[in-house]
Amino acid sequence: MSDDFLFPAPRPVSAKIANSDLRFPVRRIFCVGKNYSEHIHEMGGRIDTSSPIFFTKPADALIGNNSSIAFPLACNELHHEVELVIALNQPLLKADTETCRAAIFGMATGIDLTRRDLQAIAKKNRQPWDTAKAFDHSAPMGDIVQTQEFPANPDLAISLWVNGQLRQSANINQMIWPVEKLLSQLSHLFHLLPGDLVFTGTPAGVGPVRPGDKITAMVEGAEELNIQICPSE
Ligand code: MN
Repeated sequence: MSDDFLFPAPRPVSAKIANSDLRFPVRRIFCVGKNYSEHIHEMGGRIDTSSPIFFTKPADALIGNNSSIAFPLACNELHHEVELVIALNQPLLKADTETCRAAIFGMATGIDLTRRDLQAIAKKNRQPWDTAKAFDHSAPMGDIVQTQEFPANPDLAISLWVNGQLRQSANINQMIWPVEKLLSQLSHLFHLLPGDLVFTGTPAGVGPVRPGDKITAMVEGAEELNIQICPSE
């Protein structure tokens, strides 16, 4: 039996690491829903503190800083959601919060791009969110800043601008589920492994973007993320 592939295997997805020549190999992308109360209110949802909501994007939805992104297919309402992203370089299985903290390699600014119109249909029909959340180029992310270079202070601004206009402005200390608790919960559902990324939810102020728009996003201490939305392919 041969180990040869039928066609060339895709290159592994990876992300840039700030101040390093090495790249971070990406295994999976986990995301968190409903983690800031003001965002839950603006979406007309209810706050449920019993457990976080998790969903995923494929690893190859990741796209780096200064990218141009074609306006996604089958969409009339594309929304920005700025998020703090956690990059893991240790396995986590049924882990406590202290073990989770030690497994964080670094953090980055990310945007959970969302086809809000398709999400509204999915919610209404009680269907999965994949078409709303897991589409091509739906996970822009800036360079990963290593934990030791990242401010230890949990009071960090999280912001997003569209064409220079401030749309989202909050603080990561407003998360309902702080980072270590999220990771611990996730590690009771999945055996987390090095290369896994976790998008930790968005604060209030989400809204539409159109072809031609320039988005700038930043979590204080991480690298600024700039992307441009282009016309559909
Ligand atoms: Mn989100």
